[in-house]
Amino acid sequence: MRRTDFWLRAYACAALLAVSLTASSAIAAPAIKTRLARHPVVALTFDDLPAGGALSPGDTRTRIAAELAAELKANHLKGTYGFVNAVDLGDDPDEQQAIRAWLRAGMNIGSHTWSHPSLSDVTAAAYEHNIALDEPALAAYAGGRDWHWFRYPYLEEGDTLAKRRAVRGWLREHGYRIAQVTLTFNDDDWDDAYGRCVARRDDAGIAWLKQSYLQNAEEFIRLGREEEQTAFGNEIPNVLLLHETAFTTLMLPRLLDLLRTEGFRFKPLARVERNPAYARDPDAALKDGGTLPDEYLNSRHLPYPPFTPEPSDRLNGLCN
Ligand SMILES: [Zn+2]
Repeated sequence: MRRTDFWLRAYACAALLAVSLTASSAIAAPAIKTRLARHPVVALTFDDLPAGGALSPGDTRTRIAAELAAELKANHLKGTYGFVNAVDLGDDPDEQQAIRAWLRAGMNIGSHTWSHPSLSDVTAAAYEHNIALDEPALAAYAGGRDWHWFRYPYLEEGDTLAKRRAVRGWLREHGYRIAQVTLTFNDDDWDDAYGRCVARRDDAGIAWLKQSYLQNAEEFIRLGREEEQTAFGNEIPNVLLLHETAFTTLMLPRLLDLLRTEGFRFKPLARVERNPAYARDPDAALKDGGTLPDEYLNSRHLPYPPFTPEPSDRLNGLCN
């Protein structure tokens, strides 16, 4: 589940800024350190289990979850968190099997609310109720494992300070930790186009999707790390947001190669979030949400490093 205009909204100002910085970079280079750490750290996380993205004819949620989990396991990434919306779980044996396959492979589950509302669109009380609705399924499927990790849908943490603080307080009282995000490249924006290109057997289209997915990943991972330098003065251990979609499942081996080439080491979510940066709260009302460094940059009016936006127009037009 995604909000197609999420990036456009969240990054509209940043993109304009990036363009203007690029255009004027010969005159006034922004005061941003760009040397990246040699051995950055990352925890992978997956949103929208058990039904991320579109389902192609003949495919199943179980196939996607099992294949994704098997790839993670083969790369010694047991314990990876997947954040669940249980809204359709009760009526759908395929979704139930998908969650079981994920857990059986040694992965973990956390909460992504029950039905994926936007905190900017509902009251704090309605939002808290929606989180509570997700709990019976999480408790039943996770067994004894720790499912008290929460990922905000759309990374929206509250468009008013009152809402932000109310939901944070509720999460704390109910024993949740917030699964913050430092890196994201909107991997789920490739999934619809992939489904269309598969249906049309458009090999050239699929080849472009693979190449542009990795190029966009590389660009936005660099951007996130540079944002951290502006927000925190240095890079911090990262949490990468991905989605449990057919295309990200297909691309995971190549994405892991890319991360290893860039020197990344993989750590569990709980280990990464031991870094003190995760205990701090930007405590700002932001309608469009964003990653943790986004929240600092946007609320403190700090400059974004220049970046190339994702190829949204081509993605939307491909294989139509
Ligand atoms: Zn989501």
